[in-house]
Amino acid sequence: MELIILGVALACLVIGAEFGRRRAAVDVDRLRRIGNVDAPAAGPEEVVRRVVERAEAAERSVELRARDLVYLADLTGVGILLVDEDGRVALANTAAHVFLDRAPGGLVGRTPIEAFVDRRVEEIVAEARAGGAASGEIALNDTDGPVLVLRARRSPVRGVWLVLEDVTELRRLQQIRAEFIDNLSHELRTPLSTVSLLAETLAREADAGGSAVPPRMRDRIAKIEVETGHLVQMVNELLDLSRIESGAAVVHLDEVDLGGLARASADRLRLFAERQGVPLRVDVAPGLPPVRGDDARLGQVLVNLLHNAVKFSPNGGEVVVRVRAEGDEVIASVQDHGLGVPRSAIGRIFERFYKVDRARVRGGGTGLGLAIARHVVEQHGGRIWVESEAGRGSTFSFAVPVHDAGGASEHAAG
Ligand code: ADP
Repeated sequence: MELIILGVALACLVIGAEFGRRRAAVDVDRLRRIGNVDAPAAGPEEVVRRVVERAEAAERSVELRARDLVYLADLTGVGILLVDEDGRVALANTAAHVFLDRAPGGLVGRTPIEAFVDRRVEEIVAEARAGGAASGEIALNDTDGPVLVLRARRSPVRGVWLVLEDVTELRRLQQIRAEFIDNLSHELRTPLSTVSLLAETLAREADAGGSAVPPRMRDRIAKIEVETGHLVQMVNELLDLSRIESGAAVVHLDEVDLGGLARASADRLRLFAERQGVPLRVDVAPGLPPVRGDDARLGQVLVNLLHNAVKFSPNGGEVVVRVRAEGDEVIASVQDHGLGVPRSAIGRIFERFYKVDRARVRGGGTGLGLAIARHVVEQHGGRIWVESEAGRGSTFSFAVPVHDAGGASEHAAG
């Protein structure tokens, strides 16, 4: 019996040893593969040594790359922070420390509120965590401190990345620009209005003078009147822009007859259109419901669109303004048979200062009319768009909601 037990134990030992030998052989093979060791003569110790060497080299390379990325992050001049899953700053570059006035390393471990001393940061981070992206602008130390634009993006790996940009200088320059434009436009408006009025009177008198006024002189007077009209339009647009930018533009939402407004706006531009040799037609559908809007501001949109339509039309090219109801909106459109807008420009045409081609316009322009028109229409809860084919003309349209019985209200410009 004892002999049997001894025999079984011996057999187990032999099998176990064989098993261990095979396992060790398998592991060394694996290590050879992992370590890319292609010397068949190398023993297990040599293979392990080479694998460790490779692992250490890889670790060093990752560390150097990480250091390089940190250096690059600082070079960009923007602050970069990572807010981890636990809601605390896990990483922050040097620029972030400088912007937030912290000693090196002073941001890690803090919550965004502690880091920025501003509650909105938490909201931006939470929004990015939920929706993938968010952004906002914050002024540090209330109004005097630097102004930072903050962009938050959810990381595909962990947490939320925050990118900070110092826009203090940009905002200061924008303020100077706005004040300059505002002052200049105010200074220009009064003398220009006088010149415009005089030019209009002169043109009327020249027309009435018949053959006593030589045709060349009449032409020149008409030109002076048209060009003065452009100048008045430009100054008005610049003033509008500064009002919109300062938030002073207020719309009074009331009942507005868009058809009547279209007729009145066309009348305002009739003389200008005649001088340009452009017939102007108004086509208003009967029985239109009133819209919810501000008479003066919607009138300004129509005048801007009509002014452009005439300006970009050839001599004899008709301009038609149409107003119709569709669903719970009233749509006004201004169609011309002029230059048209190239497809590539359609996406940008409502941007501030954008002009398709500076060389092609008689009478120039500020590039602000359509941006202001869009702003006004959006303030009314409406939309504005253009359909156009280069060389064949354009139709600019806007839709505003029909007035409901809810009553009038007041909105400040955003
Ligand atoms: P402005 O007319 O002062 O240049 P706008 O903002 O009114 O500025 O228009 C921006 C640009 O859009 C114009 O410069 C012109 O290139 C293009 N545009 C606007 N209206 C028309 C139109 N009816 N036909 C052709 N191009 C137009």
